[in-house]
Amino acid sequence: MFGLQGDVREHLAVLTALGTHAVAVRRPEELGRCDGFVIPGGESTTMFKLARTFELFEPLQERIRGGMPTFGTCAGMIMLADRVVDGTADQETLGGLDVTVRRNAFGRQVDSFEGEVAFDGFDEPVPAVFIRAPWVEEAGAGVEVLARVEAGQAAGRIVAVREGHVMATAFHPEVGRDDRIHRYFVDLVTTA
Ligand code: GLN
Repeated sequence: MFGLQGDVREHLAVLTALGTHAVAVRRPEELGRCDGFVIPGGESTTMFKLARTFELFEPLQERIRGGMPTFGTCAGMIMLADRVVDGTADQETLGGLDVTVRRNAFGRQVDSFEGEVAFDGFDEPVPAVFIRAPWVEEAGAGVEVLARVEAGQAAGRIVAVREGHVMATAFHPEVGRDDRIHRYFVDLVTTA
C-alpha cells in the first residue's frame, strides 16, 4: 500500500488481520512486489506531492492503468479520481476511476461524522466514518455505485464506487471494526 502519507497503519492492521502480506510502499522498486494496492485516507494534496518527490507517481499510475487492483479511501478516493472539483490549482491525481469527486464536499457543519451506509452486495449496512470527506459528484457510465449517503442534506450522494479493478470509498473502513470492505477488496485482488 501507499506508505508516504495518511493512515497507513490502520489499513495495514486490517489487511494483516485478513492474512495478506501488506507492506507500506515508499519506493518505486517496491511496487513490483504488489498484487494489489491501497491508498489511505490523509491529505491528497500532500500525497501527490510526495508521490512526485519519491518518484512513485508515474510507476504507480502505470501499474493502475495496467490492471493492478487498487482501493482508495477518502484522500485515496481523490487520488484515484480522473477529475477533482475544489482541489488546489496544482493538484494532480493518479486517476483510474471515471468520476468527478468534490474535495471536502460535506462542508464545515458536518465536516466529520459517522453513520451507516448500505453497501452493494452486503446484507447489513457498513459503519461509515467521514472525515473531511469527498463525495462523487459525477460517475461515468462504466462506474458501479456501491454506496450512497442515506439521510440528511447529502442524501443520495455517491460515497463508494468501483470501476473494474479500481474501487474507492469516501469514508474510512480502516478505522472501524468492520472488515467487510477490505475483504471485498482482497477478493478482488485474489480473483484478478
Ligand atoms: N480532505 C482530505 C483531502 O482532500 C481528505 C480527508 C481524509 O482523507 N480523511 O485529501
